[in-house]
Amino acid sequence: MKRDDITRRKFLVRLSAATGLSVGAGAFLAACGGGDSGSAPEAEVAAAAEPVAMGCTDVSGLTDPEVLLRTSLQYVDETPDADKTCEGCALFVAPESGAGCGTCTLIKGPIAAAGYCTSWAALPS
Ligand code: SF4
Repeated sequence: MKRDDITRRKFLVRLSAATGLSVGAGAFLAACGGGDSGSAPEAEVAAAAEPVAMGCTDVSGLTDPEVLLRTSLQYVDETPDADKTCEGCALFVAPESGAGCGTCTLIKGPIAAAGYCTSWAALPS
């Protein structure tokens, strides 16, 4: 494994531990070839790479910087604050079909209406 991969892996593991989120980083690490460096907590990485049923967490089509932004903004499918959901955010784009995952004008990838990130912005009143 290249030295750059090890550095990136350690950074994402620490970032996910600091934010309490490991799904995005775990999916990213899985896309990088799994935990063969011996330096990451393998059980944590493996658990984080498990698919989330009915979630909007599939980041497989995103670039590394897009995944990093999503993770650093602490995006989650279920908001910790009922008054701040993606559906109530000015940056949310609802799914055309009315169901499933929407999108966001700030971060890439699928976004849950009940989700949240630290860049939440109230809808104009
Ligand atoms: S900015 Fe954050 S809270 Fe707002 S829609 Fe995008 S992901 Fe959701």
